[in-house]
Amino acid sequence: MVEKRIILIVVDGMGDRAIPELNYKTPLEVANKPTIDELTRNGLTGIIDVIGVGIPPGSAPANLALLGYDPYECYTGRGAFEALGLGLDLFPGDIAFRANFATVNDDLIVLDRRAGRYLVEGDLLAEAINDIKIESSPNVSIMFKHGVEHRGVLVLRGSGLSKDVSDTDPEKENVKILTSKPLSNTPEAIRTANILNEFTIKSFKVLSSHPANLSRISRGHKPANIILCRGAGTLPNIKKFEERYGIKGVCIAGVPLIKGVAKAVGLDVLNVEGATGGLNSNLMAKAEAAVKAAEKYEFIFLHVKGADTASHDGLIKEKIRFIEAVDEMVGRIIEGLNKYEVYLSITADHCSPIIIRDHSGDPVPVLIYGPYIVNDDVDKFSERDCLKGGLGRIRGLDLLPILLSYSSKAKKFGE
Ligand code: ZN
Ligand code: ZN
Repeated sequence: MVEKRIILIVVDGMGDRAIPELNYKTPLEVANKPTIDELTRNGLTGIIDVIGVGIPPGSAPANLALLGYDPYECYTGRGAFEALGLGLDLFPGDIAFRANFATVNDDLIVLDRRAGRYLVEGDLLAEAINDIKIESSPNVSIMFKHGVEHRGVLVLRGSGLSKDVSDTDPEKENVKILTSKPLSNTPEAIRTANILNEFTIKSFKVLSSHPANLSRISRGHKPANIILCRGAGTLPNIKKFEERYGIKGVCIAGVPLIKGVAKAVGLDVLNVEGATGGLNSNLMAKAEAAVKAAEKYEFIFLHVKGADTASHDGLIKEKIRFIEAVDEMVGRIIEGLNKYEVYLSITADHCSPIIIRDHSGDPVPVLIYGPYIVNDDVDKFSERDCLKGGLGRIRGLDLLPILLSYSSKAKKFGE
């Protein structure tokens, strides 16, 4: 028998609701997507509650669920996945935070949470952050990495740390930065909160006097003079993908968070040039990478972000256009592969209805296409059409086992 491939395409935030400006249709219903609709006519559809019924998912736990990992067990805080995605190695015991360069005044009032957002000096400033020593706990070391714009990650490494600490980032402006507090009554949590507070004040001292910031001020830009942290996390202790399912998998994604999720579950991560995670991401380059990866990997997890970005920004036309670009990407993938060798699934990690500009707990549509599948009567891929699909209503955790079964990679139960 020919070795079958599984391609799981997750279009972040693709699902939506009936939009008045679209005559109460959804962007998926309005978008011109001949390839996906053709696959739908020959495939099986349904809807998924990715985390659980009525639960608006964050992207990291949602993608974990679609990869077959129970988010209630495996989601250990966003910071850990961001750190892995930015290429920092994490070890058991490390505590990772999402971090922002921000602008504060001398009273530590937040003037700009993003320090003007455009921060070409980020890598330079990160070097200075990495030199910070924690005097109250000399055995704890600091690792800081700058990501894009004002973003970065902070990792604390040393014994006796805990992720049960509150954020220093108030997530709003014109208020004072927050003092991190222990969230459990353990010596580890108390110690970690103290370390984070010491780090935060030291970051202000180091960054305020940094020549790159003095230069920013002289050019009329806001100084990036403090690091604010949130989302403490640890490395999840989970069985890696290959060990668990017996197949080798790879991830093609633009955004660090999703790369981090993929690394955490043991997928290889490909870096594709032009895959930015934005609305302008080079989806054809991702399609080419997927076709090539199919020579080597049995499971390909392809994530695209743009639909979610458009939703958060309330951009209806851009969301429709992005879905149309996804259709072309899918066309290229199908063209490049032997259709008798591939099970292809398309879904979203959650709905991001444009009317609420955020993630919602609505179920997402799903399609499974592949050889010898008994198809249903659904002939268009959308939230409304997939309500009538043959898969019915499944959980996020159910999708991967179904794909493994179709591709003859599932383990038999009993004799
Ligand atoms: Zn998402
Ligand atoms: Zn989102």
